[in-house]
Amino acid sequence: MEPTCQPLRCFSESHRLELLNDDGVQTVTSVEQRKVERSIQEVLSVYQQVHNLPQPALLREQHYQYLKKGLRHLSDAYECLDASRPWLCYWILHSLELLEEPVPAAVASDVCQFLARCQSSTGGFAGGPGQHAHLAPTYAAVNALCILGTDEAYGVIDSHGNECWHPSPTREKLLDFLYSVKQPDGSFVMHVGGEVDVRSVYCAASVASLTNIITPTLFEGTHNWILSCQNWEGGLGGVPGLEAHGGYTFCGTAALVILGKENMLDLKALLRWVTSRQMRYEGGFQGRCNKLVDGCYSFWQAGLLPLLHRALFKDGDRTLSLSSWMFERQALQEYLLLCCQNPGGGLLDKPGKSRDFYHTCYCLSGLSIAQHFGNKDLHHELVLGKEENRLDASARTQARESGRDGELERKTQATCHLSSWGPPSPAGSPPMTWPCTEGGSADMKREVLESPVDAH
Ligand SMILES: [Zn+2]
Repeated sequence: MEPTCQPLRCFSESHRLELLNDDGVQTVTSVEQRKVERSIQEVLSVYQQVHNLPQPALLREQHYQYLKKGLRHLSDAYECLDASRPWLCYWILHSLELLEEPVPAAVASDVCQFLARCQSSTGGFAGGPGQHAHLAPTYAAVNALCILGTDEAYGVIDSHGNECWHPSPTREKLLDFLYSVKQPDGSFVMHVGGEVDVRSVYCAASVASLTNIITPTLFEGTHNWILSCQNWEGGLGGVPGLEAHGGYTFCGTAALVILGKENMLDLKALLRWVTSRQMRYEGGFQGRCNKLVDGCYSFWQAGLLPLLHRALFKDGDRTLSLSSWMFERQALQEYLLLCCQNPGGGLLDKPGKSRDFYHTCYCLSGLSIAQHFGNKDLHHELVLGKEENRLDASARTQARESGRDGELERKTQATCHLSSWGPPSPAGSPPMTWPCTEGGSADMKREVLESPVDAH
């Protein structure tokens, strides 16, 4: 492990030079930016007064208690997410996974039974029991079930003729649902009669690859549609012609990675766009040009770097660093640990905002990306603060020792389990199965540069 860098960047003399210079021209956005910078200055100043030795700590126990409670009880504030309930399961389970906190068997079983109630008879999952199937909760539910990884969890995706499930879910139905939202131009709508955007493509690609139901026709034309979302800025918009945005850019790029077409993007333009989204003073990322920092973009933006790194490596880029992602990893960790933690547990967008499970999930995911580079022989860590701040440590160690990547392992587990029952076979669409291989595949170099965290 590399030594912890001290002193902290945000306490250095030169850090103030990174504050916004508006050249004497005030705008609505420059005023907002100043406000955020002032609130961060205040947080840093209080921290400095209280701590002689700056050793930012990840509040593991507080986050764990907050997450554990959320699996059973939600406050009234979550009423507005009544159509996103599988997301709450996913955000909490993924956060617990990053913190390496096991889920008790009884709780895991309850989550499975709840998600089963969200499943639609038309295939796919809805945002809550009795609602219509939708690609976003389908992504959340399938990923949450694969995190649990129990027979019961896989049984919710495909009962494999087990009569204890009524109606019995199958991957054929899931595939039917994906075809029902596929559009002739290769894009997908979020639900039958719903809107098209690049989130839907990623949700469909993630779900289809995890459950091993990709067919030659399911994603026909999809890569060309995604490529048309990359605009002059270098990032991707929600649909062709829209402004580049971190969430959409991650979704489009990750979908292309799943489809094996990421090298068709203008990778250099994308790299320039995403690295320019890391904020000079704050250290965190903004979602779009001229917007404010937000903790959740620690994943949506920083998560692009491992994907880009791998794609550029495949392109034979010899100038790539083999020890670090191409962003300021310490600055991001400083922002997340000093500015985005609620003392009572849970993480947040920026100082002054409330904690929530969405930001907890993606702030922790971003922290993990900033801490870990590559895996196996090329694994480098940069863990700011104490040793206990390291996320996903044992999974990392196991991955290194066994020569396998943690995420790849989960995908392998899920696809092996589901494909052991045989692939679904819709008429005229023979499935294109993922190779159910151990991590030590033929192209070891490619794997070395796999994303260390969630390429979800
Ligand atoms: Zn956010």
